[in-house]
Amino acid sequence: MKKIEHIGIAVANADKAISTFNALFNAKPYKTEKVQSEGVNTYFYKMGESKIELLEATNPESPIAKFLANRKEGIHHLAFHVEDIHAEIKRLVKEGFNVLGEVKKGADNKLICFLHPKTTSGVLVELCQEANLE
Ligand code: ZN
Repeated sequence: MKKIEHIGIAVANADKAISTFNALFNAKPYKTEKVQSEGVNTYFYKMGESKIELLEATNPESPIAKFLANRKEGIHHLAFHVEDIHAEIKRLVKEGFNVLGEVKKGADNKLICFLHPKTTSGVLVELCQEANLE
């Protein structure tokens, strides 16, 4: 892991959050994408080499809806760029980290996988690999 790919922020109301972050960054999201499998709408801002990803739940079963019910709006996860997600997961499992589910297709043309916050000091960690390298 060499860089922060993005920081995910859970928002209750995307329109309201976008107007807040547009004002904060003096920029607009360069990309929005619905990720059906995760039950989220995503809105990306560029931040140098990294990105900020706003996450809005699209249904009550969405992990974001559950996060908001428990913890309100705020930082949801940190995503790290990896070259080879399968090799990295193998290494991390050996180190004792708990993987949440399988490697899957995420937003922004990425293969992603999450680590359980129980094993990462309370931080939900996402690993991201460029999908076109597969
Ligand atoms: Zn993410």
